[in-house]
Amino acid sequence: MKPSSFEYHAPETVEEAVEILAQFGDSAKILAGGQSLIPMLALRLTSFEHLVDLRRIRGLDSIDRRDGMVRVGAKVTESAVECSDEMAGAVPLVTRATPHIGHFQIRNRGTLCGSIAHADPAAEYPAVAVALGAEMEVISRSGSRTVSAEDFFTGYWTTKLRADELLAAVTFPVWKGRRGFGFHEFARRHGDFALSGAAIGIEADADDRITRCGIALIGMGSIPERARAAESAVLQSKIGEVSAKELGRIAMSELESVPSDVHGSAAYRKRIGAAMVERAWQEAQSEVMND
Ligand SMILES: Cc1cc2nc3c(=O)[nH]c(=O)nc-3n(C[C@H](O)[C@H](O)[C@H](O)COP(=O)(O)OP(=O)(O)OC[C@H]3O[C@@H](n4cnc5c(N)ncnc54)[C@H](O)[C@@H]3O)c2cc1C
Repeated sequence: MKPSSFEYHAPETVEEAVEILAQFGDSAKILAGGQSLIPMLALRLTSFEHLVDLRRIRGLDSIDRRDGMVRVGAKVTESAVECSDEMAGAVPLVTRATPHIGHFQIRNRGTLCGSIAHADPAAEYPAVAVALGAEMEVISRSGSRTVSAEDFFTGYWTTKLRADELLAAVTFPVWKGRRGFGFHEFARRHGDFALSGAAIGIEADADDRITRCGIALIGMGSIPERARAAESAVLQSKIGEVSAKELGRIAMSELESVPSDVHGSAAYRKRIGAAMVERAWQEAQSEVMND
């Protein structure tokens, strides 16, 4: 099959891009790496009259660290993220999650911002963004605004982005002090979207008390689910005294609409989800203890 016909736009500035979006509204769509949008167009799962390609726009392709944050521009590919020393040192959870995304050919074209904007609840980056407390920098003709990762995702493949808005960058906070991160997911084959997974960040003080914790789940609902009860359960606990198994159980207990399909029942996903939380916790915990 081939996509239905569309008009191709290749603006040279962000201002031009948002002008086109403002002009055509719902009938226009941003094209970044094309690794999700192009297959969907080709299979006629969706169609748009106008595609707005970001490729000619300068200045959206850098990873910058400043003011305790790492900012990833809209054109930064997943493989650039994977190879970034800046990212590996400052926000290692992002680096650790990246090799789980498809295959390297996909990561060479696909962008971090594209993955976040696409908002697949089974994708890695949305969960990592929620666990770490990332922020989305959104631009339209009428100005810019910031949306927290937690508020950004609203349902399957839907976000707070309006039709006239472009996701200019995602900003990840650099967690401080004694910190540890864990990422685990289960997919039937390497490169497939995960059936379930967990992304975890922990900060602890000098006495091993947990002062901050972010836990987000992959593939367990219509958005990357934040495991709030599990986060609260560990705050102020001593790092070595948390039962990873119990934490997995608590994280699953608060889920309301776990998907059930040909790939696995809700009950099966919950069993795997609990195990992913357990493993991600153990990884994060041992990193804190060795810090
Ligand atoms: C075989 C295969 C396997 C894959 N496996 C995985 C996987 O395991 N995990 C995973 O997470 N992903 C996977 N992907 C998807 C891949 O990560 C995509 O690259 C990513 O989801 C979208 O990024 P993109 O830059 O290609 O965006 P595009 O495909 O260009 O766009 C995707 C959507 O986001 C919107 N968009 C993109 N950029 C912006 C922006 N800056 N502002 C506003 N809207 C924007 C587009 O309008 C479109 O709606 C897979 C893809 C393929 C083909």
